[in-house]
Amino acid sequence: MNKFTNIRNFKQLTVEISKEAKLPTKFGNFKIVAFKELPANKEHSAIFTENFNKLEAPLVRIHSECLTGDTFGSLKCDCGDQLNYALKRIAEVGGILLYLRQEGRGIGLVNKINAYYLQDQGFNTIEANHQLGFEADLRNYDIANFILKYFEVDKITLLTNNPKKLSTLNEVIIVARESIIVGENIYNSDYLKVKQKDMGHLF
Ligand SMILES: [Zn+2]
Repeated sequence: MNKFTNIRNFKQLTVEISKEAKLPTKFGNFKIVAFKELPANKEHSAIFTENFNKLEAPLVRIHSECLTGDTFGSLKCDCGDQLNYALKRIAEVGGILLYLRQEGRGIGLVNKINAYYLQDQGFNTIEANHQLGFEADLRNYDIANFILKYFEVDKITLLTNNPKKLSTLNEVIIVARESIIVGENIYNSDYLKVKQKDMGHLF
């Protein structure tokens, strides 16, 4: 505990919230705030433009961490390109990007890499998760609702192709959806087809 310690409870969640600090980026000027889920110590963050609360329905992107795509430039998925596109778009029009620590659709990095190994053997992304005993998508959006509540926004424009995200955000009214079409390449076109056909993603 120190003089900055700020802990809030919301439904089942206990979350420590940082101060908001400036974060200039190559996409534009943002501010950042971090959220630590207790007791798991899972650290999420949100990066936002300062004008978002002057907008009728600020643009919101909910991004789940993907180390390989976001940081290493992996071409196996479209996460890195989606993240860059979202930051660029939010810098342009104003809004908030939530960066959630739920690697590998919630199964964690070790399991995700094991799933990649199975994909090397010919399984698709959903089959590989099933082989490891997981559902296709274990992500949970309670923390996203917590963060949106923290920002006190009531209407948003959601930047997403994922219909599941539209129905899990119950703390806000989604007045519009903007889709993201970026990052298709020869390594991920099968993966994107599975997302579209078997997981109901809209493009
Ligand atoms: Zn990814």
